[in-house]
Amino acid sequence: MNNNSEINSGSETVILGIAGAPGIVVGRLFVLRRDKIIIKREIIPQAEIESEIQKFRDAVNESVAEIAKIKRNISGKIDDEAAGILEAHVMSVNDVELHKEVESIIRKDRLNAEFAYNGLISKVIASLEASDSDYLRQRVFDIKGIRSRVLSNLRGMKQQSPIDVEVPSIIAAKSLSAGEVAQMAGSKVLGLITAAGGATSHTALLAKSLNIPAVLGIEEKYSLLKDGMDLILDGNQGKIILSPTRVTNELYRDRRRKFKREHEQLLVARDEPALTLDGHRVELLANIELISEVDKALAVGAEGIGLYRSEFMYFTHGCLPSEEQQYRVYSAIVKKMAPNPVTIRTFDLGGDKFIDETSRPYEQNPFLGWRAIRISLALPEYFKSQLRAILKATVHGNVSIMIPMVCDLSEVKIALRIFRDVQEELSHQGIPFDALTKFGVMIEVPSAALSADVIASHVDFFSIGTNDLTQYTLAVDRGNEMLKDLFQSFHPAVLKLTSMTVDAAKRACIPVSVCGELAGDPLAAALLIGFGATSLSAPYASLPLIKNIIRKVNYEEAKHLSEQALKMESTSEVRNLLANFLTEIFEGMSSPI
Ligand code: PEP
Ligand code: MG
Repeated sequence: MNNNSEINSGSETVILGIAGAPGIVVGRLFVLRRDKIIIKREIIPQAEIESEIQKFRDAVNESVAEIAKIKRNISGKIDDEAAGILEAHVMSVNDVELHKEVESIIRKDRLNAEFAYNGLISKVIASLEASDSDYLRQRVFDIKGIRSRVLSNLRGMKQQSPIDVEVPSIIAAKSLSAGEVAQMAGSKVLGLITAAGGATSHTALLAKSLNIPAVLGIEEKYSLLKDGMDLILDGNQGKIILSPTRVTNELYRDRRRKFKREHEQLLVARDEPALTLDGHRVELLANIELISEVDKALAVGAEGIGLYRSEFMYFTHGCLPSEEQQYRVYSAIVKKMAPNPVTIRTFDLGGDKFIDETSRPYEQNPFLGWRAIRISLALPEYFKSQLRAILKATVHGNVSIMIPMVCDLSEVKIALRIFRDVQEELSHQGIPFDALTKFGVMIEVPSAALSADVIASHVDFFSIGTNDLTQYTLAVDRGNEMLKDLFQSFHPAVLKLTSMTVDAAKRACIPVSVCGELAGDPLAAALLIGFGATSLSAPYASLPLIKNIIRKVNYEEAKHLSEQALKMESTSEVRNLLANFLTEIFEGMSSPI
């Protein structure tokens, strides 16, 4: 925890948090109201029964109107499919049979509407959860979301979401799920602040994708934020300045200009290759969550997509997309990028990736629980339909498939068997696909890094996910603001596992990429190349700087640097070593760190 996280100077207050997404914005604060719903059982006086029923009908109508608003906001901005999916949500809210039953309970048992509705819809949820059908079990997430919407409206409680922001504002919330951040595409949100969350949480990653500056993890200082305050949000330094003075405003105006100017200067090398001074070529790819990022990635010179986090489609659609819907999204990305490569990661749901609090299944340790490939293998129908959709899209360009959170060779073998089955089915049906599609895995769990030699002989490539590798190696929740100082991707243990994985890939002659946030960190560029990573995949905004660094580095020196880094005993020693290296290569110029 940071004890110096609040500084008072004159009339302004400075709050320090975690730099979640870069950029500086100035604006007015909109604090999202979230009320906790506690359901009570109440007996309604006979005379109030009709008005209770009316209250229920109004809540349903209001919920329908809210979903329609989300639909209007999202459609056309992320992808048009979302509109159709949200239509299905409207139908679920409008379930006539369920409503009849709710009204009958209010009339006959004289129970309050929220208790009657909650009881019935919870039974629907329980029966879906117990169903044998994968499809029905997946609907649970959606119905839980609908339940909370209707109940909040019944209570007249405001569960405000980013789409409630009507004038351009910086928003603040105790926590925001990745699903809620997805709703910010095309919204009036200028910047965001949360009390919870870490720099590699999926909330932060999505804020970066949407180009929304963010400061996360301000913890108890959240109570200082008041609706309507003027503030400066500095996502580069993880700083918020409440009621800034005229002098501070001017200072930040200059900083914003400088930030923009430096960014433009870095783009000078946009069309040049990422080549070290001694001619070693590295591939620079972008991590994306949304289709809209493909153009932005191309604009900064990305040579392909090294990680498409396909599960974000779940947030933009509001539920799991069908095979056809997936196919359309995959083909759109692949066509835009062709002939450059696109690596599509299969759904990495679970952990911190859920639509909202109510759709989160109860788990004591979600990051150690039902997540990623574990869900895909438990729901093979879904996994197969995703593989079919990806394979069908391979005819439009250069596609690879990647499996997240692999812990053990047996998972790789099962996933590969399913992949081959799907290929056979497609051939049988005469559906064209690229039979040479590469199949790779993410190495982001220590057991996988330690088994990298064994796994390497079964797959076509590795991609090292340093966000999860850090989280699982150090047993530090990546989204927990209280542990932000312990989340150290430069920890010697994380570096050892990274280098072991790269070595295993080299022995098996397969390419190895690094796609965690570390790949976009200027301090890490020479180190990762020195280890032998064949490509780096990072948020598109960090690619110009990484390329500039690579073009100033000597590969032989980078190898020597990585050998030295592996001998360091602490994170701070590693960081010092890398910072000195970077300062030397930028000698005489303003350092990028
Ligand atoms: C990682 O874990 O480093 C990674 C790239 O995957 P994600 O951040 O989506 O978990
Ligand atoms: Mg990961």
